[in-house]
Amino acid sequence: MNGIVLPSTDDLRARARAALQRVGVTVPDVGTGLRARTPITGDELFAVPVAGADATEEAIAAARAAFLDWRTTPAPRRGELVRRLGELLREHQEDLADLITVEAGKIRSEALGEVQEMVDVCDFAVGLSRQLYGRTIASERPGHRLAETWHPLGVVGVISAFNFPAAVWSWNTAVALACGDTVVWKPSELTPLISLACDRLLARAADDVGAPRDVHRLLLGDRTVGERLVDDPRIALVSATGSTRMGREVGPRVAARFGRSLLELGGNNAAVVAPSADPELAVRGIVFAAVGTAGQRCTTLRRLIVHREIADPLVDRLTAAYQKLPIGDPFDRSTLVGPLISTAALDGMRAALDRARDEGGELVVGGERRPAGSAPGAAYVEPAIVRMAGQTDVVREETFAPLLYVMTYDTLDEAIALHNDVPQGLSSSIFTRDQREAELFLSAEGSDCGIANVNIGTSGAEIGGAFGGEKETGGGRESGSDAWRAYMRAATNTVNYSGRLALAQNVSFL
Ligand code: NAD
Repeated sequence: MNGIVLPSTDDLRARARAALQRVGVTVPDVGTGLRARTPITGDELFAVPVAGADATEEAIAAARAAFLDWRTTPAPRRGELVRRLGELLREHQEDLADLITVEAGKIRSEALGEVQEMVDVCDFAVGLSRQLYGRTIASERPGHRLAETWHPLGVVGVISAFNFPAAVWSWNTAVALACGDTVVWKPSELTPLISLACDRLLARAADDVGAPRDVHRLLLGDRTVGERLVDDPRIALVSATGSTRMGREVGPRVAARFGRSLLELGGNNAAVVAPSADPELAVRGIVFAAVGTAGQRCTTLRRLIVHREIADPLVDRLTAAYQKLPIGDPFDRSTLVGPLISTAALDGMRAALDRARDEGGELVVGGERRPAGSAPGAAYVEPAIVRMAGQTDVVREETFAPLLYVMTYDTLDEAIALHNDVPQGLSSSIFTRDQREAELFLSAEGSDCGIANVNIGTSGAEIGGAFGGEKETGGGRESGSDAWRAYMRAATNTVNYSGRLALAQNVSFL
């Protein structure tokens, strides 16, 4: 087995420092604080200061004060800030992608794609700033007008995960700013550098258009910082992206103070492959969805439900594709599989493989660690396929690694039942050329997920649609369509211009 050749940690540190400097961030040379590290070599890069209780308090108070001003700024003017942010993101696409690759280990094209997604959502939110439409509703009373108005909500606390360290922030922030909210961001403790870069670019955008800087505040730190946002009544909306474990803690705490939460949690995404599927297209769609971002997307394909008649040839084709996957340095443009975020993630994958074997699974391909001689702390692994006789306990859990379980079905009803019989409900797809099958899968009796696709994998959503999932995925919706409504409050207005008082439902009084 070939060892992996990697850049040195010194090179990666220099690359990150240069990208930060071009963006306008000076990396503080502090000896203590949050350790920024790179999964490429598993080594530490810098230490960055952590937000303590006082800094958190100050940031929330500042964002709240800024909100009182920002909410009165006309929405199209707010859009100018988002437009400027989008321009700066575009200008620094390479720098931001460098930081994403250094800190999250994403391969180059996926890191650039993540930044593109940020630019796209800024474009979307600029348009939105002129389209925050309410409705006029037919009143039952003569001489009355009934209307719905949307107002800014308050301070949005954004808590984000390591695997989309910048895009999730932009989905929330671009839309929240256009909606008249201000933002306090607690990114993943694993990705502080890209967070510093995004925060700096937004501050520059604010200066350029004359918006208050405090429309956005960044708080670096671990979950204790997140918990302060969760419990603070000045945070009107907590938008939290991460594991279902995290959402289980955050959701009830925000609800206990009658705050609003938007939860984007774990997925356990499946694709059904029907006998009529185009095999070439299906293999490409499956491999990208299962292996992209080294299996560390919330929408990663984790379960394949294949018609019994085509299961053997499909698994053979997938195996051949898996055996050729270039694994290694994510900066090398030929690499398709970069590192896992940590050796703990590798341990999690191994434990799941052991459990799958105990539960009757048969490992078809992959699962071995790829040695990276110069970097013992890095976790490179061969993506794995395991055939399962049934949907056992381990299959029903999300393992955040490139591990694909394959099961078979005989009837589409059986496939859909298997598909929906997991606690999570994020993304799903069917590969078929039979329109009836496709429509059934998309219907009320079909996939129970927030995202349901035909002839395309489970991952790689566009920003124009609302993104999110059901059940243990948390029910939140972000990004496009009318997801903006979660960031605003609706008021129903009744205006009486009749000159006499008419009560609703014909009630007479006085
Ligand atoms: P994680 O749950 O470990 O951490 C996510 C964030 O939550 C971090 O910023 C962390 O500090 C914070 N946090 C953790 N516990 C908290 C608490 N009790 N109170 C407040 N904040 C808390 O997740 P991760 O390992 O960074 O990311 C991987 C997970 O995220 C996977 O389960 C993946 O499916 C999920 N994810 C979901 C989506 C989605 O849109 N549905 C998108 C990306 C990732």
